[in-house]
Amino acid sequence: MSRLSVWSVTALSLGALLGWAGPARAYVCTPVTDGNGVPVSPAVSQVWVNRCIPYFINRDADLFSGGDRQLLVEQSFQVWAGNACTDLEFADLGYTDQQPGFDPRASDNENVITSVKDAASVATYFPEANMVAITITAFSTSSGEIFDADIVVNDLGFDFEDVVSQPSCAAENPAPFDLRAILIHEMGHFIGFDHEADVESTMYFSAPACEVKKRTLTDDDIIGVCTVYPKGQAPKTCAPPSVDYDDVSGVQAFRDQCEAKLDGGSCSCTGYGADAPYGLALAMLALLGLRKRR
Ligand SMILES: [Zn+2]
Repeated sequence: MSRLSVWSVTALSLGALLGWAGPARAYVCTPVTDGNGVPVSPAVSQVWVNRCIPYFINRDADLFSGGDRQLLVEQSFQVWAGNACTDLEFADLGYTDQQPGFDPRASDNENVITSVKDAASVATYFPEANMVAITITAFSTSSGEIFDADIVVNDLGFDFEDVVSQPSCAAENPAPFDLRAILIHEMGHFIGFDHEADVESTMYFSAPACEVKKRTLTDDDIIGVCTVYPKGQAPKTCAPPSVDYDDVSGVQAFRDQCEAKLDGGSCSCTGYGADAPYGLALAMLALLGLRKRR
């Protein structure tokens, strides 16, 4: 029986990424890895089949408390979903008490956006102290289909704000990180994209304090979301699995998560299954900060 079996903490180096990526392409899909962090063979990458992806904000996350921050999260998702070439959608389902994680036996897994500020939680989620934020995905090791994704921001190691002016941001001590840019980067991981080599890309692996350029997708980033989630067509991964998504029985229960929770929203939903249809691995991808607090 398939159970959640593996935590794969992936501290990817740029060299390793380029080595995996194979043919040159400007955007990079996150590989499906086994328990040792080794890409499965044949290479499969992570992708949502569900196009309407619901998310919650953790109620205790200081960084996301209040309507302004809830709106900031929504607007950040929209940077990816708002491109006309894609029909990817994100549904804000409000605040939750649920923590990041995925239990294939549970019927109420939620995609959670949160921040942590206590040392124990930071140590739980962040393998390294210079990680600004991290995205954790649970996915099928055979098809690459993402079942759950969570974003955790390191509110102990770094300061954050919705940067309005870079000069005034830079004058602060310690200088904060732009929460919006950080989120948009992590949301790229959330939908299956990996780090890429272009320093201008939203998906570049590191960021200095006050940097805002990751708020804006490069043309290559947009090509990525438009290629993987093209409007009206099935998802296409960088390295498509050898299965026909429509023929995979068992995973349907993980799809179309919105309607069950939106109670009649625009997406259809069958709810979650009682068991995972496949072995699952969890992978983490982080954004490295170049400046650590004090
Ligand atoms: Zn990252």
